[in-house]
Amino acid sequence: MSSETMESKQQRPLGVLAALPQELGDLVDAMRAEGGLRTVTVGRRDYHVGTVHRVPCVVTLARIGKVAAAATASALIHVFDVEAIVFTGVAGGVGSHVRVGDVVVANALLQHDLDASPLFPRYEVPLLGVTHFAADLALADELAAACERFVADEGAALAEQFRLNGARVHRGLVISGDRFVSSSEEVGALRAALPEALAVEMEGAAIAQVCYEHDVPCAIVRTISDTADDHASASFTSFLTDIAHAYSSGILRRFLEARAGA
Ligand code: SAH
Repeated sequence: MSSETMESKQQRPLGVLAALPQELGDLVDAMRAEGGLRTVTVGRRDYHVGTVHRVPCVVTLARIGKVAAAATASALIHVFDVEAIVFTGVAGGVGSHVRVGDVVVANALLQHDLDASPLFPRYEVPLLGVTHFAADLALADELAAACERFVADEGAALAEQFRLNGARVHRGLVISGDRFVSSSEEVGALRAALPEALAVEMEGAAIAQVCYEHDVPCAIVRTISDTADDHASASFTSFLTDIAHAYSSGILRRFLEARAGA
C-alpha cells in the first residue's frame, strides 16, 4: 500500500469507549507511551486523542447508563469525526451457557427497558421503527477474532489465576437498560422475555442506536463479570477490580494490532 493510501485510510480515528476506567485497560497509558496524547474536554468528559498500537484513536469514558453512552457516542461522531466506535466493558451473563470469564461480542443490541406499548411494539424505538440494532459485521468479526486470540494466548493462565471456569467467546444478542440487573427473579424475567439474549449491560444498545442513526459502524465486546443474579453485585465488584483490566488490555491490543497491520 502506498503511503498516500495509508494516510487517507487512517485519516479518521477510531472511537474507543468504555463506561468505567478499569474497562479501558491500559489503553490510555499505551497512547501516552506511543507518542503522547491530546486531551479535549467536551460535556464533562475527557477525550484522549492519539495513536495506540499504530491506530489513530479517540479514547474516552462514557460513564454508566444509556444517556451517558449516547451523549458520548454523539460527541465522538460530531466533534471527533470517528470512522467507527468500539465499546469494551463488562456485563451480566444472561444466556444459560454464558459464564463469568466468558466474552460476548454483540451481533445485535436491544434496549430491554424500552416500552412505549401499546402505542409502539415493546422494545421498538418509537418513530425509528427498530428493535434490534445490528453491530457492524466486519468490525464485530475483527473483534471476535481478537477475543479468540486473547483467550487462546491467556485464557488458561487467567482461569487459573482468578479461578474461572475457562473463557469462551460467544456471538449474539446483547441487551441494555438503565438497571444493574442483580436478582435471580429479574434475570429470569429477561431470559423468559428475550430467550436469545446472551448478556445484559447498560450502554451498548444506546451506542448502537446513535451509530445506526449516523451510519457509523459500531461493535461491542463484553466480558462477563457476573450472572445478573443475587450474587451479581459481589461478583461484579471483584471482577472489575481484578480482571476487567486484563481482558480489555489483551483484547484491545490484539484488535488494534491487527487493524494496524491490515
Ligand atoms: N453496583 C455497581 C453498579 C455498576 S453498573 C456499582 O456500585 O458500581 C454496572 C456496569 O457494568 C454498567 O456499566 C453495565 O454496563 C455493566 N454491567 C455489568 N454487570 C451488569 C448487570 N448485571 N446488569 C447491568 N449492567 C451490568
